[in-house]
Amino acid sequence: MDKVFVENEALTKIVQMLSDDDEFSEISSKVIKLAGECVECDHSAIVQVSDDSDGISLIAEWGDISCNVPSSLKRNASIFDDDIVVVNDTYTYDEHQNAMELLNAKRIVVSPLSINGEIAMYLMFVNTEDKEFLTSDITFMCNVASVLQAVVQKKVINNSLLSSYTALQDVLNNVGCGVYVYDSNTGEIQFENKIARENAGLLSLVDECAKDYFVKKSQYSSEDLAVMEKYDKENSLWYEIKFCELNWIDSRPVTMCTVFDITQKKKNLEKIQFQAQNDFLTGLYNRMKCESDLKVLIDETVREGRKAAVLFLDLDDFKHINDGLGHQYGDVLLQEIALGLRNIPGLCGHCYRMGGDEFVILLVPDVYDRLGEILEAITVMFNKPWYIMDTEYYCTMSMGIVEFPSQGDTVHELIKKADIAMYKAKKNGKNRYSFYEEASENTSARRLDVEHNMRQAVEAECEEFVVFYQPIIDRNTSKCVACEALVRWNSKAFGLVGPDEFIPLAEYLGLITYIGDYVLEKACIQCKEWNELYDPSFKVSINLSVVQLLQNNVVENIEEIITRTGVNPENIILEITETLAINDMERIIKIIDGIKKMGVMIALDDFGTGYSSLNYIKELKLDIIKVDKSFIEDITEEDYELAFIKLIAELSKTIGVKVCIEGVERANQVRMLQGVDVQLYQGFYYSVPIPPSDFENRYLSV
Ligand code: C2E
Ligand code: CA
Ligand code: CA
Repeated sequence: MDKVFVENEALTKIVQMLSDDDEFSEISSKVIKLAGECVECDHSAIVQVSDDSDGISLIAEWGDISCNVPSSLKRNASIFDDDIVVVNDTYTYDEHQNAMELLNAKRIVVSPLSINGEIAMYLMFVNTEDKEFLTSDITFMCNVASVLQAVVQKKVINNSLLSSYTALQDVLNNVGCGVYVYDSNTGEIQFENKIARENAGLLSLVDECAKDYFVKKSQYSSEDLAVMEKYDKENSLWYEIKFCELNWIDSRPVTMCTVFDITQKKKNLEKIQFQAQNDFLTGLYNRMKCESDLKVLIDETVREGRKAAVLFLDLDDFKHINDGLGHQYGDVLLQEIALGLRNIPGLCGHCYRMGGDEFVILLVPDVYDRLGEILEAITVMFNKPWYIMDTEYYCTMSMGIVEFPSQGDTVHELIKKADIAMYKAKKNGKNRYSFYEEASENTSARRLDVEHNMRQAVEAECEEFVVFYQPIIDRNTSKCVACEALVRWNSKAFGLVGPDEFIPLAEYLGLITYIGDYVLEKACIQCKEWNELYDPSFKVSINLSVVQLLQNNVVENIEEIITRTGVNPENIILEITETLAINDMERIIKIIDGIKKMGVMIALDDFGTGYSSLNYIKELKLDIIKVDKSFIEDITEEDYELAFIKLIAELSKTIGVKVCIEGVERANQVRMLQGVDVQLYQGFYYSVPIPPSDFENRYLSV
């Protein structure tokens, strides 16, 4: 048949694809096959170029795949031009020769495809044999290229946001921060988004920074963002101003400057820092601060060869005062005691409220010599009545004392030993203090009881522990796509105990690894069953305690359970909490990498309650961020909370992480979140955690 006729017919078919609703990659595959066959070449392909170093990726290819197009082209972008290029092996340019060799080609025709005037892809035809392309072939290829170009353009207009200018403007207008785009060469402003336009005052602030930036620009490496913080005195606002270099739509180099109002963030940070260290009620430092101070103090005493002590103080029968007289009285009493302790010479700044009616005093080396005197002062203080709202009350205390470093040199050990000594004082009749003695190490009856029961439960193969499931809903489809596995202890002795009550003790006792493994195994088996019965892509999300995560063999252990249960690892999500992210990032990153290699996904739990900065999200290679329920508790339109969720949603999208909002309880919360691009929801609004059989009936077997 006449070749021209065949080519025309093919072209007609290709033109018809213009109206196809298929994905661009599918259309591309069809087109290059058809075109490749027509021109009788050995290989045809469409490759995409981007600015990053890995420049080239394959969208579709046809024919002899030994050409290995993308990897060989990465090193040979030189055959790409902004016009159609016909290369043959007699070509004189070295670069072209090189490309030909790598591609194992004798003839190449490359034609660019642009989007909005910028080259986005190339269509290429390759001959591995010494076979000339005919002029009519090349004309045909040009025609195919222009049809493809039209398809691309249409797809861009229909689907892809970022590539089209108006869409880019839309995006920039809605990013929730001021955006200025400077021409990198002239320093002139090219574009301002809505927020920037509406805050005329911002410009002077930004311009100042921009001048600074342009002067020092060469100091920033290209991956580095230049970040500055500026205070706007007039309006008492803080701004974070960032600069980065990129190519504008018309491929001109521009400097993009984003301006975030971080006033609220700053205030919150201060508040969080204060709250994190202080006890709201008494104004003393709290447990966390105690632990960090003690750690420093231990190091110091060890280094300097000195002595210090931990005093652990627990009020006797405080519960009676609280229950009998009401919380207001109890609160006032705690405040009075805090004040009294603080006023004892040498103790100011070293008193901590550990929670409830427990206090700790750190006796630093400088006052350690006065231990006797201080114990006397505390005893005297508690032997007198307290005046609360004009009435006298007696409230005594029991106290345990442990000396360090001789009796221990870790925070945990010292607090535990001081606690043990305190219980001894209680047992001996309260209203007294006792020193820690190695021989008398036995824990309190209460703790012993729970401990004993929990150990037994673990030894009995964890059978008392049950796993409940709570649905995770995909917002777009309103379907339940996953669930979170939540453990409960159905204890013979205490009834149904919630995880918040027993997990901390289990962690403390080192039993969490057994319980955690048990939950993981149960949940994997459950997931596999549900995958087989109902939905092959249904996912189960499982909590991992910090203690588990820090076990030496955590990765192997998880792998073993996954292999043994036969669950598809891609359906398993492990939830880790944010607080641990700060301590040993390198180690955590390694562990997470190990877990991710299996195909398991990682979710960052309770996001927003810990200390991790947004940077960690990137470093940790997360798949999902679970925004803590406190963020939507009383969410309103103007709130910081909503703004925070929006920010997280935007950020997550750019780095390819999904967001799950936890603690959705009411319809109005769902409504409030409508404008935010978040995929996953979880909360009582949909369902509380329920036993597996109920879960199955409600969400899977329907
Ligand atoms: P989490 O990981 O943040 O789990 C979500 C908790 O929020 C669950 O409490 C769930 O019942 C509760 N929740 C869900 N929706 C709502 C809502 O709309 N409003 C409110 N107020 N709460 C909601 P649960 O089951 O008591 O678990 C408490 C915590 O115990 C979990 O917090 C998790 O940190 C820990 N935990 C649970 N199971 C395990 C486990 O198997 N291993 C480990 N290491 N920790 C677990
Ligand atoms: Ca969780
Ligand atoms: Ca959570």
